[in-house]
Amino acid sequence: MGRRAGRGRPALRVSAPARTKHPVGRTAARRGGRVRDTGGMSSRPARRPATGKKPARRAQAAAPAPSAGAPPRQCPCGLPAPYADCCGALHAGTALAATAERLMRSRYSAFAVRDAGYLLRSWHSSTRPPRLDFDPDVRWTGLEIVRTTGGSAFHTEGTVEFRARYRAGAAAGEQHEDSRFVREDGRWVYVGEAAPPGR
Ligand SMILES: [Zn+2]
Repeated sequence: MGRRAGRGRPALRVSAPARTKHPVGRTAARRGGRVRDTGGMSSRPARRPATGKKPARRAQAAAPAPSAGAPPRQCPCGLPAPYADCCGALHAGTALAATAERLMRSRYSAFAVRDAGYLLRSWHSSTRPPRLDFDPDVRWTGLEIVRTTGGSAFHTEGTVEFRARYRAGAAAGEQHEDSRFVREDGRWVYVGEAAPPGR
């Protein structure tokens, strides 16, 4: 599902040397060695969002898009809390995500505020790309958690299915993915896109 949704032009550019081979093969390289799934919020340059998806709907410009350098007051992740008390604390390292969903939200917020360091730190060491580059045209505008499995304080793995909306220039798009999370050194980290049904 996420795989197909990914075709809708994910918004984040990930630079990975061609030789990068992730053990979780699915996560990377499906297409010529390029890292495709980037944790939910992926992968490739988003010049033209939403190819197979909904066309742009300008009227909904809405959600104030946080920009780099200036942490937004309301947390981008959608929880009713100020950024500093919500994902901002995770980004700053003063709090840890207790659940996989919490980590997912914080990663979404990290895309929104363009905190590449946090995204890399919250990535499993086996699938983490060497670096991240954000597409300057993309503004993340909203996150909806669709479904979760496992991922609680009592689990060691879990999945979080989500829809993340973004705008790229005048166009709007959505990234829909089922992401997989595990604990590494006790902390929740993002592994990659969960296996599509049937695999
Ligand atoms: Zn938050």
